[in-house]
Amino acid sequence: MSPPGGAARILLVTDDAMDRHAAPGHPERPARRAAAAAGVERAAAATGARFDRRGPMPATIAQVQRIHAPAYLQLLADEAARGGAWLDGDTYLSPGSWDAALLAAGATVQVAEAVARGEATVAFAAVRPPGHHAAAGRGAGFCLINNIAVAVAALRAAGLVERVAIVDWDVHHGDGTQAIFDAAPALLYTSTHQFPFYPGTGARSEQGSGGARGTTLNRPLSAGSGDKELIAAWVTELLPAIEAFAPGAILVSAGYDAHGDDPLAELNVTERAYRAVAVELGAVARRLGLPGVALTLEGGYDLAALELSVAATIEGLLAGLAGSEGS
Ligand SMILES: [Zn+2]
Repeated sequence: MSPPGGAARILLVTDDAMDRHAAPGHPERPARRAAAAAGVERAAAATGARFDRRGPMPATIAQVQRIHAPAYLQLLADEAARGGAWLDGDTYLSPGSWDAALLAAGATVQVAEAVARGEATVAFAAVRPPGHHAAAGRGAGFCLINNIAVAVAALRAAGLVERVAIVDWDVHHGDGTQAIFDAAPALLYTSTHQFPFYPGTGARSEQGSGGARGTTLNRPLSAGSGDKELIAAWVTELLPAIEAFAPGAILVSAGYDAHGDDPLAELNVTERAYRAVAVELGAVARRLGLPGVALTLEGGYDLAALELSVAATIEGLLAGLAGSEGS
C-alpha cells in the first residue's frame, strides 16, 4: 500500500547502546526500547512501506546546550562517570546513562531532520531515557535530556523550520517541555494527560506566558478516561488548533502509558485510539503540506501494549498522510 504521489518511507532510529541506561527493577527498562522498535518493524511489515533502520549519532554538547544549562549537563556526565546516582526518587543515572541520553537526543534530532528533509514519511526514534519531564536545569520523572526540545532547536538551527508543533499524548504531562517553551510563540505545545497526576502540572489554565499565551494547550483527562475521551480531545480540539497554527514540522512525544494495560497510570486507552488519532494527525500534516511526522518514545511500561501501540500509530499516520483514511 503506497500513498499517491510517492512511496511511504518508514525510518527507525535506535541503538542498543541505550540499553546501558538501566537500574534493577525500575519500570523504565531496556526491554522497552526493543518493544518500541518491534512496533515500528510490525508497522513496516503490515503496510509494505519502505523501511530503513539507522543508528543515531549522539547529540553534541552544543546541541544539548541550546536547551540545558551547562552546569546541569556537567552534573549528568560527572555522576554517570562516578558510577551513577539518583536525581530524585524516580530518576536514576547508571554508568551508561550519559552516553545513552546523548544518543536518545541525537536520535530524536535525526528523525526530525529526516522528515524535514523529505527523507522519511514517518520516522520513529526508539530511545531511552525519555525526555519530556526534563527542564533546562534539572532531570525528573525518568528523564535526563529533553530529547524533543533538543530536536526542535536543531531543526531551527539548521534553518529547516521555524514554527513547530509538539504533540504529547504520554499519560503524564510534559512539564519540562512546557516550561522550556513557555514563552516561545513559534512553538505550539499540545498535551493530553491524566490529571490530577504526576507531575502535577497541565491544567487547562496553563496556556503559555506573555506573547506566547495560547501556544500551550493542555487537555487534562480524569482517571478512568479511555478511547472516547482521548480521541475527542485530539480530533475536536488539539489537532484543529495545530492545523490553524500552521507549523512547518510536527514532532510527537510518543508515550504509551495511557494504555489500559500500563501499570503506572489509570487511563484505559487502547491501541485503536492511538491509530485513530494518528490517522487524523497524518491528515492534518498532509493538508499542511508537510513531508511527514517524526516521533520520539517517551513512556509506556507494558511491553506488549507498547509494541502494538507504536505499530498502530505508524499505520494510522501513513493512512492519514496518504489520504486513504481520515478527513
Ligand atoms: Zn509518562
